Formats: sequence, structure tokens, C-alpha cells
Amino acid sequence: MTAPAQTTARAGPVLYPLPAEKPAFEEVAPGVLRLNTALPFRGLKQVNLWLLEDGDGWTMVDCGFGSGEVREHLSVVWDVALRGRPITRLIGTHFHPDHMGNCAWICNRWGLAPYMTTPEWMAAQLAARDLFTDDVPQSAEFFEQHGLAPDLLETYRSEFLLYSDFVQLPKSFHSIVDGEMLRIGSAEWQVIVGRGHSPALAGLYCAERRVYISGDQVLPKITSNISVVHWEPLADPLHQFLDSLRIVRSRVADDVLVLPSHKEPFCGLHKRLDELEEHHETRLELLRSVLRRKGTSSAAECMNALFGFELDGHQVFFAMGEALAHLNHLMGSGEAELYSDGAGKARYRWTGETASTGELHDDEVP
Ligand SMILES: [Zn+2]
Repeated sequence: MTAPAQTTARAGPVLYPLPAEKPAFEEVAPGVLRLNTALPFRGLKQVNLWLLEDGDGWTMVDCGFGSGEVREHLSVVWDVALRGRPITRLIGTHFHPDHMGNCAWICNRWGLAPYMTTPEWMAAQLAARDLFTDDVPQSAEFFEQHGLAPDLLETYRSEFLLYSDFVQLPKSFHSIVDGEMLRIGSAEWQVIVGRGHSPALAGLYCAERRVYISGDQVLPKITSNISVVHWEPLADPLHQFLDSLRIVRSRVADDVLVLPSHKEPFCGLHKRLDELEEHHETRLELLRSVLRRKGTSSAAECMNALFGFELDGHQVFFAMGEALAHLNHLMGSGEAELYSDGAGKARYRWTGETASTGELHDDEVP
């Protein structure tokens, strides 16, 4: 008799329930519907998808997290929301699993291929093959080198939800590029590409209707994750992100309705851009004070200074990536440098100005 096979498969993630008071779909602007869908991520809990009236059909923006429950939810919502008209185009803002999960399923259902920027399509292809952001062994080695404690490394390894488990991609796509105009219904929507959160996130701006679909580039209340990943350890994605915020400010009017991928639609785009810039400056200032005080620090120590709460496996990935992003940004401004401590560990050294200690008097000089 053979022993029963051991179960090694990990339990599927539990989706957070959608708030009961929110409708499953609602019209947020003429011809623009918001679909509220569930997520298993502690920090986010839900993601917005959009349906835009497009002649005899609909353009859908983003695909939601890839799970049977979400697909069931979408089928039920479509039965009512689409009013018998087909989805004739699918646009993916960026490759992350909460945006691309059900891509193949939606494409099969409606006979489509998604419109995405080429870098996002490529990133999706790599993540689906357990590479790039989803190469857990390489990424864990990188975090270990940057001082991540063994217990947190184990949390990351055991809890990280792999892209390949929750995203199915179709065989082909249509490429869109920054500045391209897409005619959706009777209006022109401009593709506005942002960087830093993901390789080339496609936002959509309709100047005529005063609506800006921001993806994860501009979010209310929470900030988009900005991460360094092991593939490009010296990258400065925070520089890219702040640069993209400046581009958004210059191209999108302030008096628009912003439709973000998470949380509620909002007005006051430029004020939110100010807040996001201030947020990152505050984070940089915190790390400056850590480095100034201690002289040197690992990225993991900086992560603890930035995130003083218990982290799950996904949050470890985001928190380490975010600490590294802010440290690399300080390298870009000449305030820090990276060195190896001789034991194979990477550390950052403060190279900026030392804090003013006030005027020294002769009798205080040691
Ligand atoms: Zn994202």
C-alpha cells in the first residue's frame, strides 16, 4: 500500500468582502461605469474596473484579480450593466495581478486581445513565468543580502502569492503608446504613460469629458507602491514616479474627475499630486535622519523605520522594495552610497551634509 500523497498546494487566497453599502456597479460619469471587485490583499481589499460606452458595445478597462469568485461576480454584473451589448475592446492599465488576473477569460469570452503598452505586456509575460517580480528565490536572496531577517524572509517565501497562480494571459495583444488617441464612443481618450509603479502604466484622459482614468499612478488616500526589484538593484523608480507625476500635472487639467484603480473617484487632481510629492519627501527625510544618525544602514533597517507594523508576505515584498527605492533615490541625489560590509551584506552609507550642530565655541571643542 502506498502512502497517501502529501498535499503541498497552498490554500487559495481569501478575498476581502466588498462593502455591502457599495453597488456592484454604478455610473460615475455619463457613459462610464465603475465595477467594484474584491481582492485578497490586506492593504487594498478592492479594485475598480471601468466600462466605457463605445458605440454598439463597451470598452472595458482592467480585468480584476484572477479567481473563480471574481469571474462569477463579473458575469452577474455584466448581465445587467452591459444592457445586452458586447464588450468590444479591453484595455489593461498595467501588468499587476489585480489588474490582469482574468485577462484570458475576458478575452476568450468576448473574442478580444488586450490593448496594453509593450513594456506592461512583456512584464506580464515574465511574471507569468515566475520571473521579474515573481522570481521568489532570486528576490529572497536579494532581500537577504540587504539585511532582511530570517523570519521575515520565511514569511515572504511562504506567503507571497505567485502571479502564475492567479493570472492567465491570452496569446497576443495590441500595443498602445504614450500620447496615442483612442476613440471610445464619440470621444477621444489620450493614453498617458506613467512610470515608477510599473514599467509603463497606461492612464486614459478624456479632456472633453473631464475624466482621467489614473490606474495606480494617482490614488486617493493610499500611495502606489514604488519598488526596486532584484533585476535592477540600482534602479531609481521613485525618480521615474515623481517625474511621471509632473507629466500628469502638465497634461491633465485639475478640474477632472479622477477614476483611480483603488478606493473612490475624486476631484482635486493637482492637490493630490502635491500630497503624493510631499509624502515621498517625508519618507526621504525620515531615511535621511536614520542614515545621518547611524552613519550606515541596511535596507531592512530602513524598512523597519518606514513600516513599523507587522508585515505579511506580500507586504514584506512591497516594504523592502519601497525602502530600497527611497535609498536608491538618495544615492541619485548624492546623499547616500551603497557598499558591501565585507560579509556579503549590502549597506547604505550617508554621504550628504551632516546636521548642523549649532555654533561651536572654543571651550566646547574637545
Ligand atoms: Zn499596481
